[in-house]
Amino acid sequence: MTDGPTYGFDTLQIHAGARPDPATGARQTPIYQTTAYVFRDADHAAALFNLQEVGYIYSRLTNPTVAALQERLAALEGGVGAVCCSSGHAAQIIALFPLMGPGKNIVVSTRLYGGSITQFSQTIKRFGWSATFVDFDDLDAVKAAIDDDTRAVFCESIANPGGYITDLDAISGIAEAAGLPLIVDNTSATPYLCRPIEHGATLVVHSMTKFLTGNGTVTGGVVVDSGRFDWSASDKFPSLSAPEPAYHGLKFHETFGPLAFTFHGIAVGLRDLGMTLNPQAAHYTLMGIETLSLRMAKHVENATKVAGWLESHPHVAGVTYAGLPSSPYHDRVARICPRGAGGLFTVALKGGYEACVKFVDSLEIFSHVANLGDTRSLVIHSASTTHRQLTEEQQKAAGASLDVVRISIGIEDADDLIADLDQALNKAHG
Ligand SMILES: *Cc1c(COP(=O)(O)O)cnc(C)c1O
Repeated sequence: MTDGPTYGFDTLQIHAGARPDPATGARQTPIYQTTAYVFRDADHAAALFNLQEVGYIYSRLTNPTVAALQERLAALEGGVGAVCCSSGHAAQIIALFPLMGPGKNIVVSTRLYGGSITQFSQTIKRFGWSATFVDFDDLDAVKAAIDDDTRAVFCESIANPGGYITDLDAISGIAEAAGLPLIVDNTSATPYLCRPIEHGATLVVHSMTKFLTGNGTVTGGVVVDSGRFDWSASDKFPSLSAPEPAYHGLKFHETFGPLAFTFHGIAVGLRDLGMTLNPQAAHYTLMGIETLSLRMAKHVENATKVAGWLESHPHVAGVTYAGLPSSPYHDRVARICPRGAGGLFTVALKGGYEACVKFVDSLEIFSHVANLGDTRSLVIHSASTTHRQLTEEQQKAAGASLDVVRISIGIEDADDLIADLDQALNKAHG
């Protein structure tokens, strides 16, 4: 189909990027399990390598199954293009790669997935990059953290693990005034609940490992390009605005306009960093996305019921779900993620760490795993696992203190989930 702006989300999640296979008529997108593609002749090969003609060269860069997924994600997020990657963490590096250089920094929210906090506070230092962590509810602090070497602002829409909701409108206003791109990790919300580009995001990254694939079968990531940022407005982004030495002096912004980031991400990012999504993984994610809206609506419905029930349980000290009227972020739901606050939250138990451990060990339907966004309900004690490498202060700022358990609500029967939580809470305090 031709993707028009007139199609609704439920239509796009099934049709965007997919067309009957030109060779066989296959209705479902085939898994193009191939490394390379035959050139028509030497001129065709040269045109492809010069990026004068768009086509397939080698699957480290492009692959038709992956391309269908990229087109679908761009459509769902309201972007112009997308670069699929081998994991969510790979997507974060691919997003930053053309923007950064030695001595440059990013300003990031303290409320992030634990692995992202470690990637930004430690690992990127090896590239000469650094990150300044700020409470994104303190807008003056965000402004103050930006300096001449800042190249991007980074946050999550609905933040892992606590379900905190970032005021994307306010943050994008600050980034725009500073002439910087805003990168939003939209993993926990998915484009069904939140469309960060409509709130001013320049790039949207995802761990497709989570809700997008939706059933715990794939490790994958994506960067969606809004196409809206003027990379040539300053001299801060020479990889995109000036001749790129890694691509025989090509000027990406001048040549590809709004698609500059997307082309650079593939032609230089994937080519040289090699963090490529494989076609089999792309297939599973395409299948998952076909039911994204149905799953997300049910995740939200279940999370609302379960969080509301938990909040009034005598052994529970607090529940962070932004869908609850008691949440300080409740007002942001209608504006930032109008279809609901997602399926992820933390619950603090009155018995502290000991009770959390017993609680996790006593659950029967919930799986104790280091994942979220599955059809299955999942649970984990963040402080001792996903947020283990952090200092106690970082854990607290991220919403992963010792007395809280992270819950990812699945799409099972809510009453069964509540009954399971009830018996485990009683055992934890028995
Ligand atoms: C899981 C996750 C990541 C990392 O993604 P991987 O696919 O595991 O590399 C990044 N951000 C968020 C919000 C996540 O939940």
